[in-house]
Amino acid sequence: MPIHEKSLIRPENLTTQEDLVIDGIDVSGHWSTFIESRVITDYNEDIQDEIASLPGGEFIHRCWQCGSCTNSCTINAVNPEFNPRYWIYLIRTGMESELVRDKDIIWQCVSCNKCTYACPRDVFPEGVMKATAHWLHMKGHTPKSPSTIFDEVFTEQVIATGKIEEGRTIRRFFKRTGQGLFQDWVIAMTRQLLKHLPVGLMAHMGLSALIAPRTSGWSRAGKALQGYIDEQQAKNHQALNLATDAVATEREGG
Ligand code: SF4
Ligand code: SF4
Repeated sequence: MPIHEKSLIRPENLTTQEDLVIDGIDVSGHWSTFIESRVITDYNEDIQDEIASLPGGEFIHRCWQCGSCTNSCTINAVNPEFNPRYWIYLIRTGMESELVRDKDIIWQCVSCNKCTYACPRDVFPEGVMKATAHWLHMKGHTPKSPSTIFDEVFTEQVIATGKIEEGRTIRRFFKRTGQGLFQDWVIAMTRQLLKHLPVGLMAHMGLSALIAPRTSGWSRAGKALQGYIDEQQAKNHQALNLATDAVATEREGG
């Protein structure tokens, strides 16, 4: 397949003659830049179907590569290498190894959903980014992303208690991601909260952090939720041809 995506031209495949004169005309440097040919052989013809089988990836086939998602993207504005349109192109053309090269950037999506509103084809690019980050983790290309770990901590708390207590969620998230609790930004944010939140609300939050309130009669609902999650995870593993016993390992943080 010929390469017609500019981002696929790697710097190491560009050759420039620094000193070249042809028929008396100086064509050195920029004027004599050549792209060395490169052949991609390791296509994964299943990758689009695999990502489409994960939550958020369902509508990837609709993409017509207009680029509106990338143009509107919050992260692309600060890091031009973060390019949802390009990754969707790689997935649709089965170029797994090219996609995996960007494995340490893809998870940086902040779920602002600007791309989702900009997309004329209802691809739901934010969902595709989430599904792709999940796919990279499930296939063993990356460890769990902080965003996946946060989702897990959040979900575990809902299943256990039927409620969310923010302080507990943040503490567990920090612990699981190996972060210290007393970071400068946390201290600054806590100071602002102490200054501006009503005393009654602060007292309520403090009490909730200590006693971990539960929704009464939640146990059956929590079990049903856990059953549904297990069922969906088993389906996802099956779609990616992964062993189903990996579901338990994944839940345990493996
Ligand atoms: S949701 Fe993610 S991909 Fe979409 S605009 Fe926001 S940061 Fe970019
Ligand atoms: S905005 Fe939608 S159709 Fe356009 S490139 Fe992004 S995902 Fe594809």
